[in-house]
Amino acid sequence: MEKISFVVPCYNEVETIPLFYQEMERINYSMKKVQFEYIFVDDGSKDKSLEEIRKLSIKDRNVKYISFSRNFGKEAAMYAGLENSTGDYVTIIDVDLQDPSFLIPEMYHNIKDDGYDCVGIRRVSRKGEPVIRSFFSRMFYQIINKMSKTEMISGARDFRLMTRQMVDSILQMKEYNRYSKGLFSFVGFKTKWLEYENIERVAGSTKFNFWKLFIYAIDGISAFSTGPLIFSAVLGILFCLVSFLAILFIIIRTLCFGDPVSGWPSMICIMFFLSGIHLFCMGIVGVYLSKMYMEIKDRPIYITKETNIKR
Ligand code: UDP
Ligand code: MG
Repeated sequence: MEKISFVVPCYNEVETIPLFYQEMERINYSMKKVQFEYIFVDDGSKDKSLEEIRKLSIKDRNVKYISFSRNFGKEAAMYAGLENSTGDYVTIIDVDLQDPSFLIPEMYHNIKDDGYDCVGIRRVSRKGEPVIRSFFSRMFYQIINKMSKTEMISGARDFRLMTRQMVDSILQMKEYNRYSKGLFSFVGFKTKWLEYENIERVAGSTKFNFWKLFIYAIDGISAFSTGPLIFSAVLGILFCLVSFLAILFIIIRTLCFGDPVSGWPSMICIMFFLSGIHLFCMGIVGVYLSKMYMEIKDRPIYITKETNIKR
């Protein structure tokens, strides 16, 4: 019998865990020839999520869990889940039932019979999402796809079904700054995209506010492109050229018309502008430096406090 592993990151999801399990068991019932394995990753929840997961694991021996010592973020949770999965196929799925789980049989069929290595899901509409968030999200995909050679699919969710081979390739990348959307795309393999309309979560609330998403966007760009560094270098050259022309202009003007002392306010403006550009470019270098710093420290991606997985 073939096995599908479900990697389920959970952070303060006490309301949604039982609903999720119920729904998945319903799907498993309709797919008789496949065994489901669940790997719940409790990402340092502060509510009773872990107790809820423990209850399930007592009832069903296919429920495995890893509980982190603190909140390490969804990326770390996904990594931990993938690392501990044993299925022939692996799915990453949100516990809030926001991912269209009813597509799982179709996704399995696409991989098994149509020869795909991965089936991903992308939402075609962003209904129910704040307008500003959608706007910035679209802009982000435009920017990152211009800068990076790795293609990032707009609207793609982390929800996807992958073969063991693809999962093993993803696990080979042990980087600390993980940006999964890029990693999935980086490893290649044949991916089919299914489309669906946005669904709202069944209970609880989102853990990603605007600021967190903004930081995540910067993580994505710095992890998959060195474009900003080149951009700052080009900006530097451009300003050198402009200042060279300005110097010529001032020399010629002084020779022709003498040198009346004026232009201090404009001088101050230029100074402010240029130091702004300076700090901006230094900031770009700083972002890459900080990422490098974190990679070099080689800290663990997550720390387990409790698990029922025996190695
Ligand atoms: N999540 C997590 N760690 C975090 C934040 C979120 O494991 O630090 C999980 C969360 O429990 C959920 C999934 O990641 O299963 C997606 O989170 P959420 O629904 O809040 O994001 P959204 O769907 O709003 O983008
Ligand atoms: Mg959600």
